[in-house]
Amino acid sequence: MIDLHTHTTCSDGSDTPLALVKKAASSGIAVLGITDHDSTSGWAEATASLHGTLKLVLGAEVSCLTEDKVSVHMLGLLFDGENVPLQQLLSDCRDTRIPRMKKMIENLQGAGYEITLEDVAAATPEGATLGRPHLADALVAKKIIKSRDEAFTDLLHNESPFYVSHFAPTPEDSIRAIRAAGGVAVIAHPFASRRGQTLSPETFTSLVDAGLNGIEVFHRDQSEDERSQLIKIARALDLVITGASDYHGTGKLNQLGENTTAAAEWERLESLADQRRVVSR
Ligand code: AMP
Ligand code: ZN
Ligand code: FE
Ligand code: FE
Repeated sequence: MIDLHTHTTCSDGSDTPLALVKKAASSGIAVLGITDHDSTSGWAEATASLHGTLKLVLGAEVSCLTEDKVSVHMLGLLFDGENVPLQQLLSDCRDTRIPRMKKMIENLQGAGYEITLEDVAAATPEGATLGRPHLADALVAKKIIKSRDEAFTDLLHNESPFYVSHFAPTPEDSIRAIRAAGGVAVIAHPFASRRGQTLSPETFTSLVDAGLNGIEVFHRDQSEDERSQLIKIARALDLVITGASDYHGTGKLNQLGENTTAAAEWERLESLADQRRVVSR
């Protein structure tokens, strides 16, 4: 099984990179992508933990915003982790997450919710990319809400009055940065309408012009109908079709390997990187 999109404690997943690698190796995963939000900080631990025949695809999921303020997630895989402009872009994405979190907390406090930055810090693993899931966990710890999912449904969704956005590059800029660093760019769950507003089909040509390589089609947040539309777009634009779990440990229901990428699609995607960067023992 090839699962190219997962998260660890380096962002909002609950498994450490070591725990995730172990779990993948014992769950029949042959190729595992590690794609923490706006960060490559799990790469070293994941690489050091590698054993058996498991192959690792190191990457990141870049939080992007279109000019119309539609949230887009771009998976960058197989890029050079030492590429300075790309690391700068990722650190710019992470930096504004702290003032943004403060504003969301102020909004919640203004409505009478007793939550502080310290509560959120206590719910955030050391060095993790700070995000709404950590705020959700803090709300759960303070018994204000029952689960991460309920926190997103009731208080933290994109259209909520408490929601604040953070700096994010455009999808085109992030694709260009990933490709310039030698990697491949796959747009994550582009039609996941339950998460909020999605891209219009016309936008894909602009992404392809910027260097987009693939579309994540098989993802639990996309319906059968959304998947068929994406397959048509991918075929028309000659893009690689991927599927992945977007595993977050206990942070989400998503199970490792619940959606996967076909071997032929993966081989084509890998061949589009500037060099062989799959990690194996
Ligand atoms: P942020 O990047 O801080 O805006 O937070 C967005 C992240 O929250 C997404 O990348 C998802 O991984 C996570 N998320 C979105 N909806 C939910 C949900 N219903 N339950 C748990 N996590 C979610
Ligand atoms: Zn996440
Ligand atoms: Fe995502
Ligand atoms: Fe993700």
